[in-house]
Amino acid sequence: MVLSNTFSKSDDSIHSTFASRYVRTALPRFKMPENSIPKEAAFQIINDELMLDGNPRLNLASFVTTWMEPECDKLIMASVNKNYVDMDEYPNRCVNMIAHLFNAPLGEAEAAVGVGTVGSSEAIMLAGLAFKRKWQNKMKAEGKPYDKPNIVTGANVQVCWEKFARYFEVELKEVKLREDYLVMDPVKAVEMVDENTICVAAILGSTLNGEWDTPIHVDAASGGFIAPFLYPELEWDFRLPLVKSINVSGHKYGLVYAGIGWGYKNVMENCRENMLVLKAGLEKTGRFNIVSKDNGVPLVAFSLKNNSCHDEFEVSDYLRRFGWIVPAYTMPPDAQNVTVLRVVIREDFSRTLAERLVIDIQKVLHELDTLPAKITAKIALNGENADKNVTVVTKKSAIETQREITTVWRKFVMEKKKMNGCKIEWTALR
Ligand SMILES: *Cc1c(COP(=O)(O)O)cnc(C)c1O
Repeated sequence: MVLSNTFSKSDDSIHSTFASRYVRTALPRFKMPENSIPKEAAFQIINDELMLDGNPRLNLASFVTTWMEPECDKLIMASVNKNYVDMDEYPNRCVNMIAHLFNAPLGEAEAAVGVGTVGSSEAIMLAGLAFKRKWQNKMKAEGKPYDKPNIVTGANVQVCWEKFARYFEVELKEVKLREDYLVMDPVKAVEMVDENTICVAAILGSTLNGEWDTPIHVDAASGGFIAPFLYPELEWDFRLPLVKSINVSGHKYGLVYAGIGWGYKNVMENCRENMLVLKAGLEKTGRFNIVSKDNGVPLVAFSLKNNSCHDEFEVSDYLRRFGWIVPAYTMPPDAQNVTVLRVVIREDFSRTLAERLVIDIQKVLHELDTLPAKITAKIALNGENADKNVTVVTKKSAIETQREITTVWRKFVMEKKKMNGCKIEWTALR
């Protein structure tokens, strides 16, 4: 997060000569304009403003990627409309690739644990917090005070470690650098470690090894995508037993850009109208209860009036065949018995698409009506229909299979953690 305190002493409006083809009045600089302007004018004005930014290709101070292969441009443009943190819909293999790259001690079929974040700062917040919690739990279990956590770093760490220390109330113990030694001195770092040390944070290149059992986080924001290729023999990663987590930035030496996004009134109104169209269409089928409200985020959440034979998850699966991704969720406690399907209405969801979705939902309902009932948890649990002639369909959907595999792996990892003192716990981050 960057705090912005931009203000202008001289002029609080923007005058654009090119854009005067469309706009005759100056636009306010720090407020949203009262009236709309043609998109071409908006484009021209923003384009002119951006021209005044420094040329990133010439910014030699930053690690952040400023040129990318044109093929990556194409791929990023083809995917900007995906919510990539939605792992159910967009599963991602990168965590495992990076785990292997960083020599995580994983078995042949073993899955790595990690997460993509918006940058290494967020990655470091998450990793630091995990270390703090683990340390607190350990101290609690030993009946020791757990209110004075500290973290040992070199004074050369990136500023986000200072942020971490402030946000999460951890004392930052910095190993001072020397004129002739511009990285963290590992001997001094070890001297600073005490029983309140949640972890040692080292920027890639640290030579700390396994003599102490204080865990190490390696901040490999830029180095993580350099060392494996340039210095494969350098043992900085999970080959070192005390290295428990690592962060790395795709937008630094991963050679791709970091991303951005925006929204407007007309568009939002259209979204709301399309939401009402979809809602009316769903009500007309007579098969659904609408669970969402008309005001608020433009979305329709709905559940089947009767889900004893086929449930919302099946509707979701069958819709997938038409290309629709409409997730089904069970609600959080204490409403676990309610399952809903949810459609979020965005700008790219047109009236035509809303109408088409209703038609496809009707097709799905008809198809499900002709199929034998799937065994549901309800039937299995209360045995209510056990002696009725219910055909049990055991074929699992891809998502169910995926969930089962995830559960098995999670259990495996938890057990292994207990056995190995969390050897394979780590956070691989973008
Ligand atoms: C850039 C950098 C960070 C912060 O990463 P962001 O992606 O900018 O949040 C953290 N540590 C190091 C060593 C860095 O170079």
